[in-house]
Amino acid sequence: MIHASLKTLRAALDSRKISSVELSRLFLERIARLNPTLNAFITVDAEKTLAAAKAADLRIAAGNTGPLTGIPLAQKDIFCARGWRTTCGSRMLENFIAPYDAAVVERLEQDAGMVPLGKANMDEFAMGSSNETSYFGPVCNPWDTTRVPGGSSGGSAAAVAAFLAPVATGTDTGGSIRQPSALCGLTGIKPTYGVVSRYGMIAFASSLDQGGVIARCAEDCALVLCAMAGFDERDSTSLERPAEDYGRDLGASIKGLRIGLPREFFREGADAGVMAAVQEAIAVYRGLGAEIVEVTLPNAHLAVPAYYVIAPAEASSNLSRFDGVRYGHRAPEYADLDSMYCKSRAQGFGAEVKRRILIGAYVLSHGYYDAYYLQAQRIRRLIAGDFAEAFKACDAILGPTSPTTAFRQGEKSADPVGMYLSDIYTIAVNLAGLPGLSIPCGFDARGLPIGLQLIGNCFDEARLLNVAHAYQQATDWHLRRPAIAA
Ligand code: GLN
Repeated sequence: MIHASLKTLRAALDSRKISSVELSRLFLERIARLNPTLNAFITVDAEKTLAAAKAADLRIAAGNTGPLTGIPLAQKDIFCARGWRTTCGSRMLENFIAPYDAAVVERLEQDAGMVPLGKANMDEFAMGSSNETSYFGPVCNPWDTTRVPGGSSGGSAAAVAAFLAPVATGTDTGGSIRQPSALCGLTGIKPTYGVVSRYGMIAFASSLDQGGVIARCAEDCALVLCAMAGFDERDSTSLERPAEDYGRDLGASIKGLRIGLPREFFREGADAGVMAAVQEAIAVYRGLGAEIVEVTLPNAHLAVPAYYVIAPAEASSNLSRFDGVRYGHRAPEYADLDSMYCKSRAQGFGAEVKRRILIGAYVLSHGYYDAYYLQAQRIRRLIAGDFAEAFKACDAILGPTSPTTAFRQGEKSADPVGMYLSDIYTIAVNLAGLPGLSIPCGFDARGLPIGLQLIGNCFDEARLLNVAHAYQQATDWHLRRPAIAA
């Protein structure tokens, strides 16, 4: 049962082959056994999980079910969940019990009836690409526990890859769903900016943050995205659009689909093993009848520098609310108000978060605003323009998700710029607000999973999921399991 797809789980629950309580227990037992090794969850609360499962079983008995009722999931610890400790991976929020549910939690748990297994580990305030900045310790990659799972949604990815949860939520500000999905051999989708409500999702960089799904296949992603997405008046950038069935195109032929390969993604930068697997995936798509065209994203190389100005700028503003007064950690000893702020923030935030706040405050300061922040915003516009141009010549863009497979714990922790370069293929998508996903497309010589990235035009999630699904019908990379989950 633990290896089953969401559709199979639905059938098993509906036919009473298993109850939601039994199913949740199976996953809780695995979490109890494997979480000490993987550290994928920050908070587990079996009592709460089983109460939700019981409620789901009552709904099933009453025939009041949707496609996800009674199915367990892992929630990234960035989503406020009422009564649950919600830490965002930070000492600052170590003891914060959320007083309300994020929109994503409302939709998935209350409306759809999914059962929370716990709060998944993550980089502190979602800043990182390896899950090593978490105050609650690093997460291990289930494929090789000496390696990172990627970040910032590393706990979500490790949980799904090790079959501690059938599916998980994630957030992607600059690759944080796609990159860990790639490094853990999973399928993860970041929807178009504005499709999933940010209400109750702890803010990092508000113009980039977007919730999404980490799962084992495109079909599962579609199911959960349907339940997650939708207009929410409490998020001022939520888009008012009619509800969509993101799975509506699954199974449609991709004959004649134009897949664009951005020249800039195929130059240098990625490991040979990664590129070889991506080339093989292109051959699979050719075999499925897709037309491969070359496109260009001439400003793609500016995405990382622009992002690492814009994201810290927004973070420095968003994180000013953590002042020791309204939320979170307050230093036990201080002389006056200023020293209380200083000490609380010095103690509550880790080194990477402090670095971002400093960079952000600097690029927004008088005298540097024009030189950095404004320039970065201009680059952002150019990048969005590049994509708009490219989508005149193709229906989807393909490339690697990450330049490398999972790197060793500690390998890049002393080299922030090296870490930021993990994001070279993912970040432009966030700057342009586009949907992107990652699917497994092979393994390197060490047996570590490789991710293939597919990027769509705005609101092309359904097509993107079908492009991924078509590949997963023709290959079995997404079905491989790490030894820890055999
Ligand atoms: N690597 C990116 C960063 O550190 C990931 C951010 C994200 O998507 N949450 O900012």
